[in-house]
Amino acid sequence: MTALTTPLEDALLERLRGAVRGDIIEPGHPAYDEARQVYNAMYDKHPAVIVRAADAEDAIAVVDFAREQDLLLAVRGGNHSFSGLGSCDGGVVLDLGRMRGIRVDPEARTALVQGGCTWADVNHAAHAFGLATTGGVVSSTGVGGLTTGGGMGHLARRCGLACDNVLAADLVTADGRFLTCDEERHPDLFWAVRGGGGNVGVVTAFTYRLHPVGDVLGGPVFYPLDADVMRGYRELIAGSDENFSALLVITLGPPVPFLPERWHGRPVCGLVVCWTGPPEDDRRIRARLEDVGPVLGSAVDRVPYPVINTLFDEMLPAGLHHYGKGHFSRDLSDPAIDVHLSYGAMTPSLQSATVFFPIDGACHRIGPEETAFAYRDAAFSTALSPALTTRAACESAAGWVRAYSAALAPHCLRGGYVNFMDHDDDSRVRANYRQNYDHLAEIKRRHDPGNLFRLNHNIAP
Ligand code: FAD
Repeated sequence: MTALTTPLEDALLERLRGAVRGDIIEPGHPAYDEARQVYNAMYDKHPAVIVRAADAEDAIAVVDFAREQDLLLAVRGGNHSFSGLGSCDGGVVLDLGRMRGIRVDPEARTALVQGGCTWADVNHAAHAFGLATTGGVVSSTGVGGLTTGGGMGHLARRCGLACDNVLAADLVTADGRFLTCDEERHPDLFWAVRGGGGNVGVVTAFTYRLHPVGDVLGGPVFYPLDADVMRGYRELIAGSDENFSALLVITLGPPVPFLPERWHGRPVCGLVVCWTGPPEDDRRIRARLEDVGPVLGSAVDRVPYPVINTLFDEMLPAGLHHYGKGHFSRDLSDPAIDVHLSYGAMTPSLQSATVFFPIDGACHRIGPEETAFAYRDAAFSTALSPALTTRAACESAAGWVRAYSAALAPHCLRGGYVNFMDHDDDSRVRANYRQNYDHLAEIKRRHDPGNLFRLNHNIAP
């Protein structure tokens, strides 16, 4: 027990025990210290109770309990929030991590996915049927936070954002109602779930549209960090069909066997490639990658689609210290490239990176007000995301991020991706939801007037 946590009265805990089938973990419980951890080690919070929900009914009970007792409520999906939103001091954590069931309907090409699943779960289940949908590029990231914020990944250019593939969401609202939302039923909530950042309720299950994606040509290619390579990347994306995607990663050369040792630890540009088009075109794609710049090392191969979303996993285990900022931009302009070159050269660790997600193609075929995700005119979403082994090193890297972000701002749109925001980005909330902010605030006032769901990129009701 710590000074930060006022214990819940026994009678209240007993009431909670009577209402849920999942695990209840309070301070003093042998699992408490492990259960309260979040992915980002910068946050060390002490909730009054953690409930590992077994089912949607448990989620309803926890929402009711938190509201009735006027307790802070943290909703945890995959626990990957950069700003430590999956836990809280003194309140209740609703951890969905036990709710990881998936049912794929291969004929309808849909998947019913429980709210605590990770992208590893979804990719594995869908791949068995030669199907996939857009998800995160680190497999341990949760579907819950990623999808409600928008959701970028290798399939975004071809299939849209993760939220664009949501056909329905089972939602527990602040008053404890369980609603299935889709285009016909509760369309306002369905709209808000797709980009509104978890502000309107707990999604206990998503129904996703799946797409035929089996094996892909993919993997990393490394180049020197220079302006020609970045311009080459810009041209590569602009000139490629939507079956092609590549993240651009400015980082330090990793100690991998296919990269010559003299590049280990030096600033480089990496492309993480994913080509879902026909294998007959693999040779053409490989040739285009060589046109981007002098290749220092490459490990591009035909692999099952789930593999392409595990390439960063080993580098980014839970427990590192993170601080981040996000920007959207309509292009990758030459002045922006200059900023990236100067700050990229100061990348603070092997696990740190500036990552560019291309979000044109199918993402642009949805109108800016059709879902709560506002930036349908952005071609790139950029994450400045250092990861370090100590708190002190991360605090120092945060200075680098702030300066980098300020230098980049004139070359970007005003807002950034809600899922790349850190704890000190409250002043960007309106810009991040942009033209959809007022509509979201109005839905929030109707469905969560007490702001029960406030541990997110929060829209005040
Ligand atoms: P959590 O910490 O569990 O939750 C984060 C937020 O989402 C909280 O506010 C929470 O309340 C809300 N939330 C979670 N689950 C639910 C639910 N079921 N219903 C309602 N609200 C919910 N983003 C991308 O778009 N693409 C990427 O490829 C990508 N890669 C990443 C890689 C790493 C290593 C990290 C740390 C982040 C990455 N992100 C990426 C950002 C990611 O989208 C966010 O961190 C996201 O919030 C993670 O979701 P989660 O469920 O794991 O997080």
